Amino acid sequence: MTSTSPTRRIAILGGGIAGLSAAWTLEKARRAGHPVDFRLYEAADRLGGVINSDTVDGCVIECCPDSFPTEKPAAAALCRELGIADQLLGSNDAERKTYILVGKRLIPLPDGLMFMVPTKLLPTALTPLFSWSTKVRMAREYLFPPAAATEDESVAAMTRRHFGQQTVDRLVSPLLSGVYGGDATQLSVRAVLPRMVEMEQKYGSLSRAMLAGRRRMAEAAKQSGRKPGPPPSLFTTLRGGMRLMVDAIAALLPSGTVHLSTPIQSLAQTSGGWTLETAFGTERFDAVILALPAWVAGSLLRSVDRTLGDALSGVPYSSSITVNFGYNLDQLTMLPPGFGYLVPAIEQRRMLACTFVHAKFAGRLPPGKGMLRCFLGGAGNDQLLDESDAGLTAIAQRELSDVLGLSAPPSFVRIHRWRQSMAQYGVGHLERMQQVRASVAALPGLALAGNAYQGIGVPDCIRTGQEAAETVLRSIQTEPAAVAKR
Ligand SMILES: Cc1cc2nc3c(=O)[nH]c(=O)nc-3n(C[C@H](O)[C@H](O)[C@H](O)COP(=O)(O)OP(=O)(O)OC[C@H]3O[C@@H](n4cnc5c(N)ncnc54)[C@H](O)[C@@H]3O)c2cc1C
Repeated sequence: MTSTSPTRRIAILGGGIAGLSAAWTLEKARRAGHPVDFRLYEAADRLGGVINSDTVDGCVIECCPDSFPTEKPAAAALCRELGIADQLLGSNDAERKTYILVGKRLIPLPDGLMFMVPTKLLPTALTPLFSWSTKVRMAREYLFPPAAATEDESVAAMTRRHFGQQTVDRLVSPLLSGVYGGDATQLSVRAVLPRMVEMEQKYGSLSRAMLAGRRRMAEAAKQSGRKPGPPPSLFTTLRGGMRLMVDAIAALLPSGTVHLSTPIQSLAQTSGGWTLETAFGTERFDAVILALPAWVAGSLLRSVDRTLGDALSGVPYSSSITVNFGYNLDQLTMLPPGFGYLVPAIEQRRMLACTFVHAKFAGRLPPGKGMLRCFLGGAGNDQLLDESDAGLTAIAQRELSDVLGLSAPPSFVRIHRWRQSMAQYGVGHLERMQQVRASVAALPGLALAGNAYQGIGVPDCIRTGQEAAETVLRSIQTEPAAVAKR
Protein backbone atom coordinates (compact mmCIF):
# COMPACT_ATOMS: atom_id res chain seq x y z
CA MET A 1 0.00 0.00 0.00
CA THR A 2 1.45 3.42 -0.87
CA SER A 3 1.47 6.39 1.48
CA THR A 4 -1.07 8.12 -0.76
CA SER A 5 -3.71 5.42 -0.14
CA PRO A 6 -6.67 6.61 1.89
CA THR A 7 -6.57 5.73 5.58
CA ARG A 8 -8.57 2.58 6.24
CA ARG A 9 -10.61 2.31 9.42
CA ILE A 10 -10.71 -0.97 11.32
CA ALA A 11 -12.77 -1.81 14.40
CA ILE A 12 -11.81 -4.51 16.88
CA LEU A 13 -14.69 -5.74 18.98
CA GLY A 14 -13.58 -7.26 22.30
CA GLY A 15 -10.52 -6.41 24.39
CA GLY A 16 -9.53 -9.89 25.59
CA ILE A 17 -6.12 -11.21 24.60
CA ALA A 18 -7.36 -12.07 21.07
CA GLY A 19 -8.60 -8.51 20.45
CA LEU A 20 -5.48 -7.00 22.01
CA SER A 21 -3.22 -9.15 19.92
CA ALA A 22 -5.14 -8.01 16.80
CA ALA A 23 -4.76 -4.39 17.95
CA TRP A 24 -1.02 -4.77 18.48
CA THR A 25 -0.62 -6.35 15.01
CA LEU A 26 -2.48 -3.40 13.46
CA GLU A 27 -0.43 -0.94 15.48
CA LYS A 28 2.78 -2.51 14.16
CA ALA A 29 1.40 -2.19 10.62
CA ARG A 30 0.55 1.45 11.28
CA ARG A 31 4.06 2.10 12.59
CA ALA A 32 5.40 0.42 9.46
CA GLY A 33 3.56 2.96 7.33
CA HIS A 34 0.24 1.26 6.55
CA PRO A 35 -2.46 3.94 6.49
CA VAL A 36 -4.70 2.30 9.08
CA ASP A 37 -6.70 3.85 11.89
CA PHE A 38 -8.13 1.33 14.35
CA ARG A 39 -10.44 1.43 17.35
CA LEU A 40 -10.94 -1.26 19.99
CA TYR A 41 -14.33 -1.51 21.71
CA GLU A 42 -14.61 -3.38 25.01
CA ALA A 43 -17.80 -3.89 27.00
CA ALA A 44 -16.09 -4.07 30.39
CA ASP A 45 -14.33 -1.26 32.21
CA ARG A 46 -10.93 -2.93 31.83
CA LEU A 47 -8.96 -4.72 29.14
CA GLY A 48 -7.86 -8.37 29.23
CA GLY A 49 -11.16 -10.29 29.10
CA VAL A 50 -10.71 -13.35 31.29
CA ILE A 51 -7.02 -12.53 31.86
CA ASN A 52 -6.56 -10.61 35.08
CA SER A 53 -4.13 -10.69 38.02
CA ASP A 54 -4.18 -9.18 41.46
CA THR A 55 -1.64 -8.89 44.27
CA VAL A 56 -2.49 -9.54 47.93
CA ASP A 57 0.14 -9.64 50.71
CA GLY A 58 2.84 -9.66 48.02
CA CYS A 59 1.29 -12.78 46.41
CA VAL A 60 0.40 -12.58 42.70
CA ILE A 61 -3.08 -14.05 42.24
CA GLU A 62 -4.21 -15.23 38.83
CA CYS A 63 -7.92 -14.62 38.56
CA CYS A 64 -8.28 -16.90 35.50
CA PRO A 65 -5.47 -18.40 33.34
CA ASP A 66 -2.31 -18.84 35.41
CA SER A 67 0.10 -19.70 32.56
CA PHE A 68 0.28 -20.93 29.00
CA PRO A 69 1.62 -24.13 27.42
CA THR A 70 5.28 -23.54 26.51
CA GLU A 71 5.13 -25.74 23.40
CA LYS A 72 2.89 -23.15 21.68
CA PRO A 73 5.28 -20.29 20.89
CA ALA A 74 2.89 -17.37 20.23
CA ALA A 75 2.54 -16.18 23.83
CA ALA A 76 6.24 -16.16 24.78
CA ALA A 77 7.10 -14.60 21.39
CA LEU A 78 4.57 -11.84 22.05
CA CYS A 79 6.04 -11.20 25.51
CA ARG A 80 9.52 -10.87 23.98
CA GLU A 81 8.16 -8.41 21.43
CA LEU A 82 6.46 -6.41 24.17
CA GLY A 83 9.70 -6.12 26.14
CA ILE A 84 8.59 -8.26 29.08
CA ALA A 85 10.71 -11.35 28.35
CA ASP A 86 12.42 -10.91 31.75
CA GLN A 87 9.05 -11.77 33.32
CA LEU A 88 8.79 -15.21 31.69
CA LEU A 89 8.91 -17.96 34.28
CA GLY A 90 8.80 -21.69 33.52
CA SER A 91 6.95 -24.18 35.69
CA ASN A 92 9.03 -25.97 38.28
CA ASP A 93 8.94 -29.29 36.41
CA ALA A 94 11.45 -30.99 38.73
CA GLU A 95 8.55 -30.98 41.21
CA ARG A 96 5.91 -31.90 38.62
CA LYS A 97 3.55 -34.51 39.89
CA THR A 98 -0.20 -34.44 39.46
CA TYR A 99 -2.58 -36.54 41.49
CA ILE A 100 -6.00 -37.96 40.71
CA LEU A 101 -8.46 -38.12 43.57
CA VAL A 102 -9.95 -41.59 44.02
CA GLY A 103 -12.22 -41.78 47.07
CA LYS A 104 -10.13 -39.89 49.60
CA ARG A 105 -6.83 -41.01 48.14
CA LEU A 106 -4.53 -38.89 45.94
CA ILE A 107 -2.94 -41.22 43.39
CA PRO A 108 -0.09 -39.81 41.27
CA LEU A 109 -0.46 -40.00 37.49
CA PRO A 110 1.85 -42.80 36.39
CA ASP A 111 5.16 -41.88 34.75
CA GLY A 112 5.31 -42.13 30.96
CA LEU A 113 1.82 -40.83 30.12
CA MET A 114 1.93 -38.99 26.80
CA PHE A 115 -1.25 -37.30 25.63
CA MET A 116 -3.07 -39.51 28.13
CA VAL A 117 -1.55 -42.62 26.52
CA PRO A 118 0.53 -44.97 28.71
CA THR A 119 4.01 -45.58 27.24
CA LYS A 120 5.93 -47.03 30.19
CA LEU A 121 5.24 -50.59 31.20
CA LEU A 122 6.36 -50.64 34.81
CA PRO A 123 4.72 -47.45 36.13
CA THR A 124 1.48 -48.42 34.33
CA ALA A 125 1.60 -51.94 35.76
CA LEU A 126 2.27 -50.70 39.28
CA THR A 127 -0.13 -47.74 39.52
CA PRO A 128 -3.14 -48.22 41.81
CA LEU A 129 -5.01 -45.77 39.54
CA PHE A 130 -6.22 -48.61 37.30
CA SER A 131 -7.60 -52.06 37.99
CA TRP A 132 -5.85 -55.17 36.65
CA SER A 133 -8.49 -55.63 33.99
CA THR A 134 -7.83 -52.08 32.73
CA LYS A 135 -4.08 -52.77 32.73
CA VAL A 136 -4.59 -55.95 30.70
CA ARG A 137 -6.71 -53.96 28.28
CA MET A 138 -3.97 -51.33 27.99
CA ALA A 139 -1.44 -54.06 27.18
CA ARG A 140 -3.74 -55.54 24.52
CA GLU A 141 -4.13 -52.10 22.93
CA TYR A 142 -0.52 -52.38 21.78
CA LEU A 143 -1.71 -54.92 19.20
CA PHE A 144 -4.55 -52.86 17.68
CA PRO A 145 -4.25 -52.78 13.84
CA PRO A 146 -4.46 -49.47 11.91
CA ALA A 147 -8.01 -48.16 11.77
CA ALA A 148 -10.01 -46.82 8.84
CA ALA A 149 -11.03 -43.15 9.07
CA THR A 150 -14.20 -42.83 11.15
CA GLU A 151 -16.75 -40.13 11.80
CA ASP A 152 -15.94 -37.61 14.50
CA GLU A 153 -16.57 -38.94 17.99
CA SER A 154 -16.07 -37.79 21.56
CA VAL A 155 -12.70 -38.03 23.28
CA ALA A 156 -14.35 -40.37 25.79
CA ALA A 157 -15.62 -42.68 23.03
CA MET A 158 -12.22 -42.99 21.41
CA THR A 159 -10.39 -43.54 24.69
CA ARG A 160 -12.98 -46.13 25.75
CA ARG A 161 -12.42 -48.08 22.51
CA HIS A 162 -8.69 -48.19 23.19
CA PHE A 163 -8.27 -48.37 26.94
CA GLY A 164 -11.69 -48.96 28.53
CA GLN A 165 -14.14 -46.97 30.64
CA GLN A 166 -11.95 -46.72 33.73
CA THR A 167 -9.33 -44.79 31.73
CA VAL A 168 -12.06 -42.36 30.69
CA ASP A 169 -13.29 -41.95 34.27
CA ARG A 170 -9.98 -41.67 36.07
CA LEU A 171 -7.70 -40.11 33.48
CA VAL A 172 -9.24 -38.50 30.41
CA SER A 173 -12.28 -36.97 32.02
CA PRO A 174 -10.41 -35.17 34.86
CA LEU A 175 -7.61 -34.03 32.53
CA LEU A 176 -10.05 -32.55 30.02
CA SER A 177 -12.15 -31.01 32.71
CA GLY A 178 -8.92 -29.43 34.05
CA VAL A 179 -7.92 -28.01 30.63
CA TYR A 180 -11.29 -27.27 28.98
CA GLY A 181 -13.69 -27.14 31.92
CA GLY A 182 -15.41 -29.61 29.61
CA ASP A 183 -17.04 -32.99 29.44
CA ALA A 184 -15.01 -35.73 27.71
CA THR A 185 -18.22 -37.38 26.51
CA GLN A 186 -19.06 -34.21 24.54
CA LEU A 187 -15.67 -32.89 23.35
CA SER A 188 -14.67 -33.77 19.78
CA VAL A 189 -11.58 -35.93 19.45
CA ARG A 190 -10.88 -34.46 16.00
CA ALA A 191 -10.93 -30.90 17.32
CA VAL A 192 -9.31 -31.44 20.71
CA LEU A 193 -6.82 -34.24 20.05
CA PRO A 194 -6.29 -34.39 16.27
CA ARG A 195 -2.92 -36.11 16.71
CA MET A 196 -4.67 -39.08 18.31
CA VAL A 197 -6.88 -39.49 15.24
CA GLU A 198 -3.87 -39.40 12.90
CA MET A 199 -2.00 -41.88 15.08
CA GLU A 200 -4.94 -44.25 15.15
CA GLN A 201 -5.20 -44.20 11.37
CA LYS A 202 -1.50 -44.80 10.89
CA TYR A 203 -0.71 -47.25 13.70
CA GLY A 204 -3.99 -48.46 15.17
CA SER A 205 -2.48 -48.67 18.63
CA LEU A 206 -1.99 -45.26 20.29
CA SER A 207 0.68 -46.69 22.62
CA ARG A 208 2.65 -48.03 19.66
CA ALA A 209 2.30 -44.68 17.87
CA MET A 210 3.59 -42.75 20.89
CA LEU A 211 6.56 -45.07 21.30
CA ALA A 212 7.38 -44.79 17.58
CA GLY A 213 7.27 -40.98 17.89
CA ARG A 214 9.59 -41.10 20.87
CA ARG A 215 12.04 -43.39 19.00
CA ARG A 216 12.00 -41.04 15.97
CA MET A 217 12.84 -38.05 18.19
CA ALA A 218 15.70 -39.95 19.87
CA GLU A 219 17.01 -41.04 16.45
CA ALA A 220 16.85 -37.48 15.07
CA ALA A 221 18.71 -36.16 18.10
CA LYS A 222 21.36 -38.88 17.69
CA GLN A 223 21.86 -38.15 14.00
CA SER A 224 22.14 -34.41 14.56
CA GLY A 225 24.83 -35.09 17.17
CA ARG A 226 22.98 -32.86 19.62
CA LYS A 227 23.08 -33.81 23.25
CA PRO A 228 19.47 -33.89 24.40
CA GLY A 229 19.17 -30.94 26.79
CA PRO A 230 16.55 -30.77 29.53
CA PRO A 231 13.07 -30.43 28.01
CA PRO A 232 11.53 -26.94 28.30
CA SER A 233 9.09 -26.36 31.15
CA LEU A 234 5.61 -27.56 30.39
CA PHE A 235 4.01 -24.24 31.37
CA THR A 236 5.20 -20.64 31.28
CA THR A 237 3.81 -17.74 33.26
CA LEU A 238 4.77 -14.14 33.94
CA ARG A 239 6.43 -13.52 37.28
CA GLY A 240 4.35 -10.40 37.95
CA GLY A 241 1.11 -11.94 36.64
CA MET A 242 -0.49 -12.77 33.30
CA ARG A 243 -2.00 -9.29 33.29
CA LEU A 244 1.42 -7.82 32.43
CA MET A 245 0.83 -8.99 28.85
CA VAL A 246 -2.42 -7.04 28.70
CA ASP A 247 -0.90 -3.91 30.27
CA ALA A 248 2.13 -4.05 27.98
CA ILE A 249 -0.04 -4.08 24.84
CA ALA A 250 -2.35 -1.36 26.21
CA ALA A 251 0.68 0.88 26.87
CA LEU A 252 1.79 0.58 23.24
CA LEU A 253 -1.55 1.50 21.64
CA PRO A 254 -2.00 5.15 20.60
CA SER A 255 -4.20 7.16 22.96
CA GLY A 256 -7.82 7.34 21.88
CA THR A 257 -7.83 3.91 20.23
CA VAL A 258 -9.36 2.00 23.15
CA HIS A 259 -12.98 2.53 24.17
CA LEU A 260 -13.78 0.82 27.48
CA SER A 261 -17.31 0.31 28.85
CA THR A 262 -18.56 0.45 25.26
CA PRO A 263 -20.47 -2.71 24.36
CA ILE A 264 -21.31 -3.10 20.70
CA GLN A 265 -25.08 -3.19 20.37
CA SER A 266 -25.43 -3.98 16.68
CA LEU A 267 -23.41 -4.51 13.55
CA ALA A 268 -24.45 -4.05 9.93
CA GLN A 269 -22.76 -4.49 6.59
CA THR A 270 -23.12 -1.28 4.63
CA SER A 271 -21.86 -0.37 1.17
CA GLY A 272 -18.09 -0.58 1.23
CA GLY A 273 -17.80 -1.38 4.91
CA TRP A 274 -19.38 -2.01 8.29
CA THR A 275 -21.43 0.10 10.66
CA LEU A 276 -21.51 -0.55 14.35
CA GLU A 277 -23.67 0.92 17.03
CA THR A 278 -22.82 1.66 20.66
CA ALA A 279 -24.60 3.69 23.31
CA PHE A 280 -22.48 6.63 22.13
CA GLY A 281 -23.51 6.54 18.48
CA THR A 282 -22.84 4.94 15.12
CA GLU A 283 -19.44 4.51 13.47
CA ARG A 284 -18.43 3.26 10.02
CA PHE A 285 -15.38 1.15 9.32
CA ASP A 286 -13.78 -0.55 6.34
CA ALA A 287 -13.26 -3.75 8.30
CA VAL A 288 -14.19 -5.33 11.61
CA ILE A 289 -12.51 -7.98 13.74
CA LEU A 290 -14.86 -9.75 16.11
CA ALA A 291 -12.74 -10.96 19.06
CA LEU A 292 -15.81 -11.79 21.10
CA PRO A 293 -17.20 -14.92 22.69
CA ALA A 294 -18.83 -16.82 19.77
CA TRP A 295 -22.30 -16.47 21.32
CA VAL A 296 -21.91 -12.65 21.28
CA ALA A 297 -20.44 -12.66 17.75
CA GLY A 298 -23.33 -14.92 16.66
CA SER A 299 -26.01 -12.60 17.96
CA LEU A 300 -24.35 -9.54 16.32
CA LEU A 301 -23.92 -11.31 12.97
CA ARG A 302 -27.32 -12.98 12.72
CA SER A 303 -28.83 -9.98 10.95
CA VAL A 304 -25.90 -9.95 8.47
CA ASP A 305 -25.85 -13.71 7.72
CA ARG A 306 -28.29 -15.91 9.55
CA THR A 307 -26.40 -19.16 8.87
CA LEU A 308 -23.18 -17.67 10.23
CA GLY A 309 -24.95 -16.20 13.24
CA ASP A 310 -26.55 -19.54 14.07
CA ALA A 311 -23.30 -21.49 13.60
CA LEU A 312 -21.48 -19.14 15.99
CA SER A 313 -24.29 -19.09 18.54
CA GLY A 314 -24.26 -22.89 18.50
CA VAL A 315 -20.71 -23.13 19.95
CA PRO A 316 -21.31 -24.25 23.54
CA TYR A 317 -19.48 -22.52 26.39
CA SER A 318 -18.82 -23.61 29.95
CA SER A 319 -18.42 -21.50 33.08
CA SER A 320 -15.97 -21.86 35.92
CA ILE A 321 -14.99 -20.38 39.24
CA THR A 322 -11.51 -19.90 40.69
CA VAL A 323 -11.06 -19.72 44.45
CA ASN A 324 -7.55 -18.67 45.54
CA PHE A 325 -6.59 -19.26 49.19
CA GLY A 326 -3.46 -17.66 50.70
CA TYR A 327 -1.57 -19.40 53.54
CA ASN A 328 1.74 -19.40 55.30
CA LEU A 329 3.76 -22.36 54.03
CA ASP A 330 4.05 -23.81 57.53
CA GLN A 331 0.26 -24.32 57.46
CA LEU A 332 0.60 -26.52 54.36
CA THR A 333 3.04 -29.18 55.54
CA MET A 334 0.45 -31.91 54.87
CA LEU A 335 0.44 -31.31 51.08
CA PRO A 336 2.02 -34.06 49.01
CA PRO A 337 4.86 -32.94 46.69
CA GLY A 338 3.64 -31.83 43.27
CA PHE A 339 1.55 -29.32 41.35
CA GLY A 340 -1.85 -30.36 42.66
CA TYR A 341 -4.72 -32.73 41.97
CA LEU A 342 -7.63 -33.33 39.60
CA VAL A 343 -11.02 -34.63 40.63
CA PRO A 344 -12.84 -37.09 38.34
CA ALA A 345 -16.55 -36.35 37.83
CA ILE A 346 -17.45 -39.82 39.11
CA GLU A 347 -16.19 -38.72 42.54
CA GLN A 348 -19.23 -36.41 42.61
CA ARG A 349 -17.48 -33.53 44.31
CA ARG A 350 -17.84 -29.87 43.51
CA MET A 351 -14.18 -29.06 43.15
CA LEU A 352 -12.69 -29.92 39.74
CA ALA A 353 -9.03 -29.34 40.55
CA CYS A 354 -6.63 -27.77 43.00
CA THR A 355 -3.22 -26.29 42.08
CA PHE A 356 -0.44 -25.90 44.65
CA VAL A 357 0.67 -22.53 43.24
CA HIS A 358 3.87 -22.16 45.30
CA ALA A 359 5.07 -25.55 44.00
CA LYS A 360 4.09 -25.06 40.35
CA PHE A 361 5.98 -21.76 39.95
CA ALA A 362 8.99 -21.54 42.26
CA GLY A 363 9.82 -18.04 43.44
CA ARG A 364 6.53 -16.50 42.37
CA LEU A 365 5.29 -15.95 45.92
CA PRO A 366 7.20 -14.23 48.72
CA PRO A 367 9.28 -16.64 50.86
CA GLY A 368 7.20 -18.51 53.41
CA LYS A 369 3.92 -17.97 51.51
CA GLY A 370 1.77 -20.68 49.96
CA MET A 371 -1.32 -20.54 47.78
CA LEU A 372 -3.97 -23.04 46.68
CA ARG A 373 -5.97 -22.32 43.56
CA CYS A 374 -9.20 -24.28 43.42
CA PHE A 375 -11.50 -24.68 40.42
CA LEU A 376 -15.21 -25.24 40.79
CA GLY A 377 -17.99 -25.36 38.22
CA GLY A 378 -17.30 -26.74 34.76
CA ALA A 379 -19.75 -28.38 32.36
CA GLY A 380 -23.14 -28.99 33.97
CA ASN A 381 -22.38 -27.14 37.24
CA ASP A 382 -23.62 -23.65 36.41
CA GLN A 383 -25.77 -23.46 39.56
CA LEU A 384 -22.56 -22.92 41.57
CA LEU A 385 -22.17 -19.50 39.93
CA ASP A 386 -25.12 -18.29 41.99
CA GLU A 387 -23.57 -19.36 45.31
CA SER A 388 -22.42 -16.50 47.54
CA ASP A 389 -18.70 -15.96 48.14
CA ALA A 390 -19.17 -17.33 51.66
CA GLY A 391 -20.91 -20.42 50.25
CA LEU A 392 -18.14 -21.06 47.68
CA THR A 393 -15.44 -20.55 50.32
CA ALA A 394 -17.17 -23.05 52.60
CA ILE A 395 -17.54 -25.63 49.79
CA ALA A 396 -13.86 -25.36 48.81
CA GLN A 397 -12.64 -25.43 52.42
CA ARG A 398 -14.76 -28.50 53.20
CA GLU A 399 -13.24 -30.35 50.26
CA LEU A 400 -9.68 -29.28 51.12
CA SER A 401 -10.20 -30.47 54.65
CA ASP A 402 -11.67 -33.76 53.47
CA VAL A 403 -8.99 -34.50 50.87
CA LEU A 404 -5.86 -32.87 52.29
CA GLY A 405 -6.70 -32.64 55.98
CA LEU A 406 -6.22 -28.86 55.72
CA SER A 407 -8.23 -26.99 58.32
CA ALA A 408 -6.01 -23.91 58.92
CA PRO A 409 -7.76 -20.64 58.12
CA PRO A 410 -6.44 -18.93 54.98
CA SER A 411 -4.94 -15.44 55.28
CA PHE A 412 -6.96 -14.35 52.23
CA VAL A 413 -9.56 -15.70 49.82
CA ARG A 414 -10.19 -14.35 46.32
CA ILE A 415 -13.09 -15.66 44.24
CA HIS A 416 -13.67 -15.04 40.52
CA ARG A 417 -16.62 -16.29 38.49
CA TRP A 418 -16.21 -16.78 34.73
CA ARG A 419 -19.60 -17.17 33.10
CA GLN A 420 -19.84 -18.76 29.66
CA SER A 421 -16.15 -18.09 29.08
CA MET A 422 -14.63 -21.36 27.89
CA ALA A 423 -15.62 -22.51 24.38
CA GLN A 424 -16.34 -26.24 24.14
CA TYR A 425 -15.31 -27.98 20.93
CA GLY A 426 -18.08 -30.53 20.77
CA VAL A 427 -18.38 -33.43 18.31
CA GLY A 428 -18.84 -31.81 14.87
CA HIS A 429 -16.85 -28.67 15.79
CA LEU A 430 -14.59 -28.92 12.72
CA GLU A 431 -17.58 -29.10 10.35
CA ARG A 432 -19.12 -26.11 12.13
CA MET A 433 -15.84 -24.22 11.66
CA GLN A 434 -15.78 -25.09 7.95
CA GLN A 435 -19.21 -23.54 7.61
CA VAL A 436 -18.09 -20.48 9.59
CA ARG A 437 -14.99 -20.02 7.40
CA ALA A 438 -17.06 -20.28 4.22
CA SER A 439 -19.56 -17.68 5.45
CA VAL A 440 -16.83 -15.30 6.66
CA ALA A 441 -14.98 -15.59 3.32
CA ALA A 442 -18.10 -14.27 1.61
CA LEU A 443 -18.16 -11.16 3.83
CA PRO A 444 -15.27 -8.84 2.85
CA GLY A 445 -13.67 -6.95 5.70
CA LEU A 446 -14.82 -9.37 8.40
CA ALA A 447 -12.53 -11.54 10.53
CA LEU A 448 -13.06 -13.58 13.71
CA ALA A 449 -10.65 -14.23 16.56
CA GLY A 450 -10.81 -15.77 20.00
CA ASN A 451 -11.13 -19.02 21.84
CA ALA A 452 -14.04 -20.50 19.88
CA TYR A 453 -12.15 -21.38 16.73
CA GLN A 454 -8.74 -23.00 16.68
CA GLY A 455 -7.70 -23.59 20.26
CA ILE A 456 -8.80 -22.23 23.59
CA GLY A 457 -5.45 -21.53 25.25
CA VAL A 458 -3.84 -18.10 25.49
CA PRO A 459 -1.27 -18.76 22.69
CA ASP A 460 -4.00 -19.89 20.28
CA CYS A 461 -6.08 -16.81 21.05
CA ILE A 462 -3.04 -14.58 20.43
CA ARG A 463 -2.43 -16.33 17.11
CA THR A 464 -6.05 -15.94 15.97
CA GLY A 465 -5.88 -12.21 16.81
CA GLN A 466 -2.71 -11.80 14.74
CA GLU A 467 -4.17 -13.76 11.84
CA ALA A 468 -7.43 -11.80 11.92
CA ALA A 469 -5.49 -8.51 11.75
CA GLU A 470 -3.39 -9.79 8.84
CA THR A 471 -6.55 -10.98 7.04
CA VAL A 472 -8.28 -7.59 7.26
CA LEU A 473 -5.10 -5.75 6.27
CA ARG A 474 -5.01 -7.89 3.14
CA SER A 475 -8.72 -7.48 2.46
CA ILE A 476 -8.92 -3.70 2.80
CA GLN A 477 -6.17 -3.18 0.28
CA THR A 478 -8.69 -4.22 -2.35
CA GLU A 479 -11.79 -2.69 -0.80
CA PRO A 480 -12.81 0.97 -1.15
CA ALA A 481 -12.31 3.02 2.00
CA ALA A 482 -15.37 4.09 3.98
CA VAL A 483 -15.76 7.74 4.80
CA ALA A 484 -15.48 8.15 8.54
CA LYS A 485 -18.42 9.93 10.20
CA ARG A 486 -16.82 11.39 13.28
C1 LIG B 1 -11.06 -20.41 34.38
C2 LIG B 1 -10.20 -20.42 33.15
C3 LIG B 1 -8.87 -20.83 33.26
C4 LIG B 1 -8.05 -20.82 32.11
N1 LIG B 1 -6.76 -21.20 32.24
C5 LIG B 1 -5.94 -21.15 31.17
C6 LIG B 1 -4.55 -21.40 31.32
O1 LIG B 1 -4.05 -21.65 32.43
N2 LIG B 1 -3.77 -21.34 30.21
C7 LIG B 1 -4.26 -21.00 28.98
O2 LIG B 1 -3.50 -20.94 28.00
N3 LIG B 1 -5.58 -20.72 28.82
C8 LIG B 1 -6.42 -20.77 29.88
N4 LIG B 1 -7.73 -20.44 29.74
C9 LIG B 1 -8.24 -20.08 28.41
C10 LIG B 1 -7.85 -18.66 27.97
O3 LIG B 1 -7.55 -17.85 29.08
C11 LIG B 1 -8.97 -18.00 27.18
O4 LIG B 1 -9.46 -18.88 26.19
C12 LIG B 1 -8.53 -16.71 26.50
O5 LIG B 1 -7.90 -15.83 27.41
C13 LIG B 1 -9.75 -16.06 25.85
O6 LIG B 1 -9.38 -14.86 25.21
P1 LIG B 1 -10.39 -14.15 24.21
O7 LIG B 1 -9.81 -12.83 23.87
O8 LIG B 1 -10.74 -15.07 23.11
O9 LIG B 1 -11.75 -14.00 25.01
P2 LIG B 1 -12.13 -13.14 26.33
O10 LIG B 1 -10.99 -13.03 27.25
O11 LIG B 1 -13.39 -13.77 26.83
O12 LIG B 1 -12.43 -11.71 25.73
C14 LIG B 1 -13.61 -11.37 25.06
C15 LIG B 1 -13.91 -9.90 25.39
O13 LIG B 1 -15.08 -9.50 24.66
C16 LIG B 1 -15.77 -8.56 25.49
N5 LIG B 1 -17.15 -8.42 25.01
C17 LIG B 1 -18.20 -9.27 25.16
N6 LIG B 1 -19.31 -8.77 24.56
C18 LIG B 1 -18.96 -7.58 24.03
C19 LIG B 1 -19.64 -6.59 23.26
N7 LIG B 1 -20.95 -6.70 22.94
N8 LIG B 1 -18.97 -5.48 22.86
C20 LIG B 1 -17.65 -5.31 23.17
N9 LIG B 1 -16.95 -6.23 23.90
C21 LIG B 1 -17.59 -7.34 24.31
C22 LIG B 1 -15.67 -9.19 26.86
O14 LIG B 1 -15.94 -8.25 27.88
C23 LIG B 1 -14.23 -9.69 26.86
O15 LIG B 1 -13.34 -8.72 27.39
C24 LIG B 1 -8.57 -20.41 30.86
C25 LIG B 1 -9.91 -19.99 30.75
C26 LIG B 1 -10.71 -19.99 31.89
C27 LIG B 1 -12.13 -19.49 31.76
